[in-house]
Amino acid sequence: MDRVPVVIVGGGPVGLAAALELARHGVRSLLLERHDATTWHPKARNLNTRTMEIARGWGTAVHDALVAVNLPRAWMSRIIYTRTLDGEELGRVSTGGFSGPGRDVSPEMPLLSSQDVFEPILRRGAEASGLAELRFGHEVEGLESGGTGEDDRVVLIVRERASGLAYRVEADYAIAADGADSGVRAQLGIELDGPRGLGHFVNVYFRADLDPWTAHRPAVLFWVASDDTRGVFQPLDARGRWLCQIAYDGRAETFARYDAERCVAWIRAAVGAPRVVPEILSIGTWTMNATVARQLVRGRVLLAGDAAHQLPPTGGFGVNTGVQDVHNFAWKLALVHAGVAAPALLDTYDTERRPVARYNCDRSLENSLMVARINAAASGESGARLSPKDAVAASRRYGNFLGMELGFHYESAAVVPDGSEREPGADEVIDYVPSARPGHRAPHLWLERAGERCSTLDLFARGFTLLTGPAGARWTEAAADARARLGVALDARAIGAEGEWTDPSGGFSELYGIGEDGAVLVRPDGHVAFRAAEAATSPTERLSSALGQVLSRAQG
Ligand SMILES: Cc1cc2nc3c(=O)[nH]c(=O)nc-3n(C[C@H](O)[C@H](O)[C@H](O)COP(=O)(O)OP(=O)(O)OC[C@H]3O[C@@H](n4cnc5c(N)ncnc54)[C@H](O)[C@@H]3O)c2cc1C
Repeated sequence: MDRVPVVIVGGGPVGLAAALELARHGVRSLLLERHDATTWHPKARNLNTRTMEIARGWGTAVHDALVAVNLPRAWMSRIIYTRTLDGEELGRVSTGGFSGPGRDVSPEMPLLSSQDVFEPILRRGAEASGLAELRFGHEVEGLESGGTGEDDRVVLIVRERASGLAYRVEADYAIAADGADSGVRAQLGIELDGPRGLGHFVNVYFRADLDPWTAHRPAVLFWVASDDTRGVFQPLDARGRWLCQIAYDGRAETFARYDAERCVAWIRAAVGAPRVVPEILSIGTWTMNATVARQLVRGRVLLAGDAAHQLPPTGGFGVNTGVQDVHNFAWKLALVHAGVAAPALLDTYDTERRPVARYNCDRSLENSLMVARINAAASGESGARLSPKDAVAASRRYGNFLGMELGFHYESAAVVPDGSEREPGADEVIDYVPSARPGHRAPHLWLERAGERCSTLDLFARGFTLLTGPAGARWTEAAADARARLGVALDARAIGAEGEWTDPSGGFSELYGIGEDGAVLVRPDGHVAFRAAEAATSPTERLSSALGQVLSRAQG
């Protein structure tokens, strides 16, 4: 029987990201995907700024390959609402979320591409890591053990589809990244909370020259709203590959009626030009749900991605929330597997990520309701209170989500509060206010050493990082002590001190909320674990105690 530290069920974007992120932390994994290859028919297109920050940790080969497939930036800059592409434009909204916050806030830009293009990049990166074995064409048929607190290992039953041969895999932990209809989740009996069946859509992948209606006004999404055609056009490469989502009434008709001929007719009507000649490449369907699993951790199994939460795609948060799940649990699994942290640390995956998933789910649902309101206004429905123009203007949060994407925070046993209050922006979805308050993403700042420029984010490599002010020598000594006591990887970096990283903008102290002799402990996922605004009487005790708490260990 194969025996691995971690087995990953599902080779979609989240399963592949799990293999990469575990490899980053030095953990071997086995990924099992029932299909022979990565997806051919794309759904997701957008990897947001936070996901691209995470991708920096997967090595330059993966990161640069992703950046290389990005669409020209103009295509990310707005959402356009029309009656038909050839008809009246109802309005447009600039999209700071899709186009990114700029280099002062992040070293990264978001990616707009397509899932069929970026999945193979993740696959190649995972294979090249040397720590992940990927078996495509291998289907997990069931979980024999691992779903209870008493189980000392996971055992999966797997079938190789080509040969029909069944075999068992044994692992310390399993990641269920097997999608919205997760068989693992079903077998564990984990319920979903939230509304489902909110809408029915046909997802059409096609090729057509839509330049006459789009090239002069590139956009991330072109919504159409006339009486008989409601849906959206989504550019995949700005060279003629497109998706469209066709909304249909699931009570009155079935997906089966959407053959290629009907999809061509819909595209012509939605463009408003009968002479357009779309080449239909494939047709799929999906149902809009806004659900989150009641538990993300059960025994030795962790749910991630769509297996854990099904978000309405309005906002493009599905893959992104999933990648960020993986980023949250990978370091915890690595430390528990190495015996440095207690297994209770894994429970904080649920405590930290479930509220974020719920929040992202609810905001994504609100986006879809904004679109419904625009549709109602465009059709002059009796209940519509706003004009189409005002309905578009009122949908500003859809596409402008930097507060939500970068400003979320964690509260759990793996975070040591410092008594400070949260400072949300004027609109907590739209406005990102950088903060190094414990639980938040440690903010980006450009630093320099020996003429080399680097983001603070690049200092948070595999282990913990203690950032101190220039007079933080006692914290640096405390870090050496804590490292020895707890056996954990911990680097101390004095920002602004001679010979260390300099702070050309002079903004570190204010951004991180500490004085020259203060310190901030950052977790391997770049979230702040502990902050001391100034020197402590016994820094060794303070730091070891904080780190001991984060690792779910009795003090020092
Ligand atoms: C129209 C549309 C547009 C979207 N746009 C975006 C976007 O722009 N940005 C974004 O972030 N998200 C977007 N999403 C959401 C996104 O597509 C999903 O959130 C994402 O695909 C989830 O990834 P996953 O890896 O969790 O699951 P999946 O992509 O569903 O992958 C699960 C994998 O598990 C495999 N599997 C299942 N069962 C087994 C088994 N028993 N054994 C082995 N393998 C198994 C499946 O074959 C599959 O490959 C969109 C969704 C839709 C419908």
